[in-house]
Amino acid sequence: MERVYNFSPGPSQLALPVLEKAQKDLLCYGDTGMSVMEMSHRSKMYTDIYDKAVADIRDLMKIGEEYDVLFLQGGATQQFSAVPLNLMVNRKADYIDSGNFAHLAAEEAKRYGEVSVVASSREDVYTYVPDVKAIQYHDDADYLHITQNNTIYGTRYTELPVCKAPIVCDASSMILSEEMDVSRYGVIYAGAQKNIGPSGLCLLIARKDLIGKAMDICPKLLNWEVQAKAGSMYNTPNTWGIYLAGLTFQWLKEIGGVQAIEKVNIEKAALLYDFLDNSKLFRATAEKKYRSRMNVTFVTGDADKDAAFVKAAAAEGLVNLKGHRSVGGMRASIYNAMPVEGVKKLVDFMKRFEAANA
Ligand SMILES: *Cc1c(COP(=O)(O)O)cnc(C)c1O
Repeated sequence: MERVYNFSPGPSQLALPVLEKAQKDLLCYGDTGMSVMEMSHRSKMYTDIYDKAVADIRDLMKIGEEYDVLFLQGGATQQFSAVPLNLMVNRKADYIDSGNFAHLAAEEAKRYGEVSVVASSREDVYTYVPDVKAIQYHDDADYLHITQNNTIYGTRYTELPVCKAPIVCDASSMILSEEMDVSRYGVIYAGAQKNIGPSGLCLLIARKDLIGKAMDICPKLLNWEVQAKAGSMYNTPNTWGIYLAGLTFQWLKEIGGVQAIEKVNIEKAALLYDFLDNSKLFRATAEKKYRSRMNVTFVTGDADKDAAFVKAAAAEGLVNLKGHRSVGGMRASIYNAMPVEGVKKLVDFMKRFEAANA
């Protein structure tokens, strides 16, 4: 059985060297005589793995000492609740609604305080990101929440909002794909299953002065202060997930870090969008200015042709190209682990499909 090019939005393709290393270590990690999955999270052998993962992500993203880095559980969605529970001191927050995850985050926060959706592209089926310069932000908001890449609709922020409140960013589908100036954010969080590792894990980068303000009702496990004091180990963490995240960080460092992968990501996205812009059959759905580099959404305009395309592509080893059930069409998710070669194969197949079906 050969490996396919997996364009899944998440869980998504992992880098092959990461999987190979994990396979090599599966039964016996180093000279420990056991698998990483079988180690105590308090043992030296495991805390070394943990510490290295934290050091490597700090290095990759140039995260300053004024930030804590935590590996939490419950994916990104758990943070939709944890964010307001930890930050809503004045019970007020601004949210930009730029996609379905952004919407879900705002809806969840409403359970805990006054949420102002200061801008939304919902009425326009999220084909763009609201203009951050045209927004009235609230100076007394505890934070502004953004979703920097909209996984389902294939859009991304091209500039960051400038506001008084700290920015809290769901970076699930773009973290490590491009350079981020961490100092411009209060909190960055990301579910792991797109650019980091397996699902269930969530990376949290939070400015230390924002930690320690949780509401009394905040469950202990969601309390960032509790988790920061315990080094992400208030309870047993997702030890295997953190190990794989660490391998991904090492792989990324070996190939030149975020700056290098960003160049590759720009190249991959350009290959697809350039083809789409000149296609007689396919059309990209996101507004040009806001096109995502990670999730490329497109349609033929004919649902039957879309379905035929997805099926025929799968037969060629190009799988999971179906768009999200809420929007239809196609979506090629081309995260860090997708090689240029995979995108070239896809464009090549699209050309052939077009010639036969336009
Ligand atoms: C995938 C994704 C989520 C959901 O992540 P879970 O780990 O399933 O909770 C949230 N936000 C964004 C932007 C995503 O891409």
